[in-house]
Amino acid sequence: MVFKVFSTMTKKKEVFAPATGENMVRMYTCGPTIYNFAHIGNFRTYLFEDLLRRFLKFKGFAVKQVMNLTDVDDKIIRDSQQQNISLREFTDPYATAFFEDIKTLHIEPAEVYPRATEHIPEMITLIKVLLEKGFAYKTEDGIYYSIKKFKKYGRLAHIDPAQLKAAASGRVRADEYDKEGLADFALWKFWDEKDGQVFWDTELGRGRPGWHIECSAMSAKHLTAVFDNTGFEKENFTALDIHTGGVDNIFPHHENEIAQSEACFGEKFVRYWLHSEHLLVDNKKMSKSEGNFYTLRDLIAKGFSPSAIRYLLLSTHYRAKLNFTFESLGAATAGLDRLQECVRLLLEAQENSALQSRPSLPVFARLRDGVLRKFERALDDDLDISKALAALFSFVSTTNGLLAKGNLGASDATQALDALKKVNSVLGVLSFAHNSLPSDLDELIHQRELARNKKDWQASDCLRDELLAKGVLVEDTSSGSRWKWAKK
Ligand code: AMP
Ligand code: ZN
Repeated sequence: MVFKVFSTMTKKKEVFAPATGENMVRMYTCGPTIYNFAHIGNFRTYLFEDLLRRFLKFKGFAVKQVMNLTDVDDKIIRDSQQQNISLREFTDPYATAFFEDIKTLHIEPAEVYPRATEHIPEMITLIKVLLEKGFAYKTEDGIYYSIKKFKKYGRLAHIDPAQLKAAASGRVRADEYDKEGLADFALWKFWDEKDGQVFWDTELGRGRPGWHIECSAMSAKHLTAVFDNTGFEKENFTALDIHTGGVDNIFPHHENEIAQSEACFGEKFVRYWLHSEHLLVDNKKMSKSEGNFYTLRDLIAKGFSPSAIRYLLLSTHYRAKLNFTFESLGAATAGLDRLQECVRLLLEAQENSALQSRPSLPVFARLRDGVLRKFERALDDDLDISKALAALFSFVSTTNGLLAKGNLGASDATQALDALKKVNSVLGVLSFAHNSLPSDLDELIHQRELARNKKDWQASDCLRDELLAKGVLVEDTSSGSRWKWAKK
């Protein structure tokens, strides 16, 4: 089965194949600007990238993913100066928080997380080549990229060349500018007093890099080119297989990355550009500057489970906008509970001595193979997650029916669990442990069991309330206590 992805460049679904003709996929994903906690809008994009990465692995590819950390830009300089601390002191806690959050959300780590401030020599190398080739020019306050020199400028964002010709006159020094701002952009900003202690002394003068050159330099260094002390080896350039980001990255950031990298290396920069749509709140983009955002920590503090948050953000197709509401998070929690409950019942069936000798149902093997096939076929179609989840829910509902009637033997339960584990290697939302609570909550459940064994009902009720306040609902059944995440 072939994997097709929608390319922002061609606006068509294209069959995916890595450049090397081998199994290795080289993927670059624009990472966070570490001047604040990432919000769940950012995580929607990182989760789309995680889904892509996991599905590539499901299909047998090896993945080398690089995600940069932007640790120097206008906002970081402004905020670190307000607090009177160095860039590193300012950004480190947010980098740490970011890594904690991706772990909480079960996002597989990228192979490399390069920091912009640790790649200044590579940026200088690229800017020097751009100057030599005539794509860049110097002014009194910096070195700029001349967009009219790059004939393909505007292709990714589908900007009309006539519009480009008419508008390409000004220059922008700011790292971010809007869709209307067709202008030359800063590659290197010469130091001025506002930059304070933030500068690098280089052969191009004292200053700091623009935002866009960071990604051209870091993708080259870690994925596409070979650098030595004197620069890069042009003959060893291989285009990136996949470059991703949110749709707001298309223009100007990715357009500028293409202009820089292709002008430098004289080769196609990226083979497949994939972009995810935004997470909205009240139908407006969730963003730090609008102040309409939730962090992962906000939602966990309200009692929602990380898996339900992950499930919600993944369960809408990445190219469709998703409006965040607490109702939808509640529905995602309920949907995930149904899946998790099926896993729990299968684990029980697998260990039930009365079911050990029951022969496998021939029909069940077909069902199990069917769900894997349908799941893969759906995701093969540009990650059609809705169809993939529909196949999964249909399998779960049939399996639940067989379990309820006591028709499923232990060996079928094992087969079903294997299929669900395979599906979960892509979704990353289910737990197959018999007890998968965080250890502090696990400890409370343990204390409650002890209280119940001692028939200390008062203590046991107190502990139940404490668990509920932390989002865990405990139910006492004839076969013992069970827990699940409380619904909102
Ligand atoms: P930033 O830290 O603003 O550079 O954003 C990091 C990543 O998050 C980029 O790939 C953005 O495109 C993405 N992003 C920012 N806001 C949202 C949003 N509301 N929904 C989805 N992705 C977003
Ligand atoms: Zn980038």
